Amino acid sequence: NSLKIMEEMESLLKKSNLADEVKIVKTGCFGLCAEGPIVVVYPEGAMYVRVEAADVKDIVEEHLLKGRIVRRLLAGEKEAEDITKVLENVDFFKRQQRIALRNCGRINPENIDEYIAFDGYKALEKVLTELTPEGVIDTVKRSGLRGRGGGGFPTGIKWEFAAKQVSDQKYVCCNADEGDPGAFMDRSVLEGDPHSLIEAMSIAGYAIGATEGFIYVRAEYPIAVKRLQLAIDQAKEYGILGDNVLGTGHRFDLEIRLGAGAFVCGEETALMTSIEGHRGEPRPRPPFPAVKGLWQKPTILNNVETYANIPVIILNGAEWFSSIGTEKSKGTKVFALGGKINNTGLVEVPMGTTLREVVYDIGGGIPKGKKFKAAQTGGPSGGCIPASHLDTPIDYDSLIALGSMMGSGGLIVMDEDNCMVDIAKFFLEFTVDESCGKCPPCRIGTKRMLEILERITEGKGEEGDIEKLELLARNIKASALCGLGQTAPNPVLSTLRYFRDEYEAHVYEKR
Ligand code: SF4
Repeated sequence: NSLKIMEEMESLLKKSNLADEVKIVKTGCFGLCAEGPIVVVYPEGAMYVRVEAADVKDIVEEHLLKGRIVRRLLAGEKEAEDITKVLENVDFFKRQQRIALRNCGRINPENIDEYIAFDGYKALEKVLTELTPEGVIDTVKRSGLRGRGGGGFPTGIKWEFAAKQVSDQKYVCCNADEGDPGAFMDRSVLEGDPHSLIEAMSIAGYAIGATEGFIYVRAEYPIAVKRLQLAIDQAKEYGILGDNVLGTGHRFDLEIRLGAGAFVCGEETALMTSIEGHRGEPRPRPPFPAVKGLWQKPTILNNVETYANIPVIILNGAEWFSSIGTEKSKGTKVFALGGKINNTGLVEVPMGTTLREVVYDIGGGIPKGKKFKAAQTGGPSGGCIPASHLDTPIDYDSLIALGSMMGSGGLIVMDEDNCMVDIAKFFLEFTVDESCGKCPPCRIGTKRMLEILERITEGKGEEGDIEKLELLARNIKASALCGLGQTAPNPVLSTLRYFRDEYEAHVYEKR
């Protein structure tokens, strides 16, 4: 649809003799999926939503030729008394702070010059000319940045471990496998701002003493792969990747490795095993990748969103970054809003923003005026947060205290019509399918849990089933080999914690 809109725009601009004056720029995702396709006209910043090819005529004839904004298509019209800068008036964006997504929807991701025009590669230049590797690690440590892909491990400390290892070869890896159903923030950065990832990985290479990097990206993201490869090629052409980065003598090169869509390959050791060319199965830790990772060499692995923060931290300083967020969770977090919510899409908010703000102020609340029942954070590894905790500030620790986790930032909203036992079953079906089968607690245990859940939801549950389910869940959590198995019971445990009555209704009232 967007391509049709673009073609129509090109043709009408030509007919109206505006082709030389108006430049069409294809950008990445704005985040406001519910309102797409979107066209923004600058310098006004007027954001047109739900645009169809038939609307282009009005945009060209009214706005571009006569300077009259087409209100019928305008986002945030109510707030936009002053019709200029409509984009900043849209509720969805007003409350966000876009750091990792700073360039998404703003630059043409296929043009390195646009990235450079928005301070791109300035952080790399600063690092290579003004900072020592220790200085870079110190900045990242003081920023308080924690991994955005799951566990929230402090990024600077991970880099420091790897930097301290003595080895003839080290590697920098990026996890762009993004397997959580409903999460697409990494994809958005890859498609909308791929150079930020290249810049960050090169900075990481300098910090830990690595000259090679790998980006493990799922093959189901063809546009991301294409733009990333294009960005790598452009960076090589500009002397940003290669043997003499920016003429400083620093060496760093990157390669893409395609994942075949296995959820377990998002687990760090499985991902590295897959890059090495083997079946993607987790390895026991220790040794941790910072000591023995890819091909047994010290390796750091961060996800796309984590890396996307790095150039801005270097440019604006650790103090700037650590002033955003909560005491132990600094900066912002991108959430993928999905499920029963009006504004589905990607939002980036400071850590510590409450769930209520995300769901109601930014997400526009629940469709058809229905009641909020719960939100699942962290995808199949996370848990649900009930309405009684809507005002909890969201950060790594508060989510864990509630029995959930940040994960990669999927946030699926459920309304009063959702059965929470069905939700738990849905996520468990996913993890059972995705279990690699290497260790029995996960391979056999999750399957047994699913059988009990199927019985319960079919109205065939028996007395003792709920207790059995809970016992199995706790044992699997404690004994599975990798994060997939250890977190697979979370959706069941958290729904049992907050919605046990629904399980009991299924078993004892055969509902
Ligand atoms: Fe494989 Fe599951 Fe064991 Fe992880 S926990 S190693 S996914 S079987």
